[in-house]
This record gives sequence, C-alpha cells and structure tokens, in this order.
Amino acid sequence: MSFVEYRDTIKDGDTAIVFLGHESMFPVKVQHGGKTQTKYGVIRHSTDLIGKRYGSKVTCSKGGWVFILHPTPELWTMNLPHRTQILYSTDISLITMMLELKPGSIVCESGTGSGSLSHAIIRTVAPTGHLYTVEFHQQRAEKAEEEFQEHKVEHLVTVKNQDVCKNGFGVSNVADAVFLDIPSPWEAIGHAKSALKIEGGRICSFSPCIEQVQRTCLAMEEHGFTEINTLESLLRVYNVRTVSLQIPDLGKAAEDNSGTGFDSSNQSNPESLYGILQQGTAQFKSGVPLKEMVGHTGYLTFATKSLF
Ligand code: SAM
Repeated sequence: MSFVEYRDTIKDGDTAIVFLGHESMFPVKVQHGGKTQTKYGVIRHSTDLIGKRYGSKVTCSKGGWVFILHPTPELWTMNLPHRTQILYSTDISLITMMLELKPGSIVCESGTGSGSLSHAIIRTVAPTGHLYTVEFHQQRAEKAEEEFQEHKVEHLVTVKNQDVCKNGFGVSNVADAVFLDIPSPWEAIGHAKSALKIEGGRICSFSPCIEQVQRTCLAMEEHGFTEINTLESLLRVYNVRTVSLQIPDLGKAAEDNSGTGFDSSNQSNPESLYGILQQGTAQFKSGVPLKEMVGHTGYLTFATKSLF
C-alpha cells in the first residue's frame, strides 16, 4: 500500500480506512494479530483484513459490517490526526489547479502542519516530482516524516525542521511552485522567490484574515510577482423547489405532429408535451441559492514569478 499507487489486497503494515458511513470512518494500521474495536464488534486483522481485497465488506464480531478502503489523500484529509488546523479538499483542489501542479513538479511548502495538503501535493507530483516541506515545530516535523514513511511516500518528500521566514526552504531555483500556510507569509515571500526556478513559477499563500492577505499582496508586489489574485472557495447551498411557470403559446406549429417528435398518442398524460401545452403551465425544479455562504476557511492569494 502506498498513497501514490493503488494495490488490490490488504497487507500487514498498510494504513487502511475503516468505513462505517460517510460521517463515520477512521484509519487503522493493519498488523498481524492486531484487533480494532468498532460499534459493530471487533475486526481481527489477521483473519478479517490481511489478504482481503480493498473495498471488501468485512463482518465484525457482533454481525454488523464495514467497508475497508484503500487510503487516498482525500480520505486521509478526512481522517488524519489533527496536530494543527488543516486544509480541506475544497481549498486543496483549487490550490492544485492554480499552482499548475502535475507529475514531475517540484514544490516547496511551509508549514507542514498535519500534512493534509502535503499528501495531496505528493500524490499529484509523483512519480518524478518532489515536495520540500518546512515546519519549525520539531515534533510536528518528526511526526510528518514518520507518516510519510508509513505511507510509503518518503522518496517523494523532504521535511526540514526550520523557520521558513529566517532560513527559507533550503533549496534555490528549483521549485515550480511554492505554497505558504503560516501566520506571517509576507516574511517568507523573498525566500519563496529564491526557491522558485529562475525562469519563474507560481506561488500561493493561505491566510484566514484579509489584513494578512493585504500585507502578503504588498510583499509579493515588492518582490516583483505579477498576476496577484486572491480567491475564496466556498460551497453555495441551493434550496431546490418545484415552481409552476407559464409556457409560451407555440400556436399551430406545436400542435402539428409533423417531424417534431411531438407524440399526440400520449394526449391523456399531463406530463407529455401535448399535455403541458394544453395546461398552459409546466412544473420546473428551481434552485434558489441561500444568501449566506458558510464555511470560510481562508483566502488563497496566487501570483506568478516571471523571468522578466
Ligand atoms: N497546511 C497544513 C495542513 O494542511 O495540514 C497546516 C499548516 S498549520 C495551519 C501551520 C503550520 O505552520 C504549523 O504547524 C506551524 O508550526 C507552522 N509554522 C508557522 N510559522 C512557521 C515558520 N515561520 N516556519 C516554519 N513553520 C511555521
């Protein structure tokens, strides 16, 4: 099992996701002789997991069942142990697209935090790219390194335990993209510029407050970054209801059966085109957006370092 390659069967040492429902899942480290308690009873790793196919339905000791899923960065984001605030898949997908990440990309990131974004970046840049991730909190840096090893992606990532604002990323002119999720990103913009390739690249900074965004934009401008854009990714909930709308009078053409697909044999069905035309109104599903868009996490400020 690796977070960057799919394997069919569950093996000793794998990290698997025990799925009880969309609102209830957790990661488990598969071990010979290991046991995991669920509300449906015990899962015995040696007999219930090892050798079984990922995606299998596993019956627990009390008769209830769960699915065992292959890990992905998205499932990891939903289930990882939180050591810090983390980035979620809505922001991560926008970051991946706007930083133009792809297999082979070299990326610098700080801070590593709980490694939520790191796992997604690593999966995207594999198999030939690399992530340099900088975290100044020693235990967080060590824990992230441990998890990258457990998830068999250690060859794709270098963790550095240092202050990115003072010491930068420890690499120069190699990165295609830089990502910052730290409280004072404006202090790291100069280091980000040095880490990016001479021919240029993309940068993104995540900040929860607009005041931080303003300072970061000024620093980006001072360092010659262009195309500075701040985006926020929010989910908008639509209230769907059925409404009656008048339909236009299509006159004789609509009643004329020739070559239109209009089926006059279905005249008794009020939902057929003929039936609708006769009633003069039709029922439509209409989506009304709720005014408030909840779920603010932060603003994503993107910019470009150009050669000129
Ligand atoms: N993006 C991460 C994720 O998705 O899991 C979460 C990052 S967390 C919000 C911010 C991290 O940045 C913390 O772990 C903190 O220790 C680290 N940090 C803050 N300032 C830093 C600095 N100057 N240099 C390196 N790391 C820093």
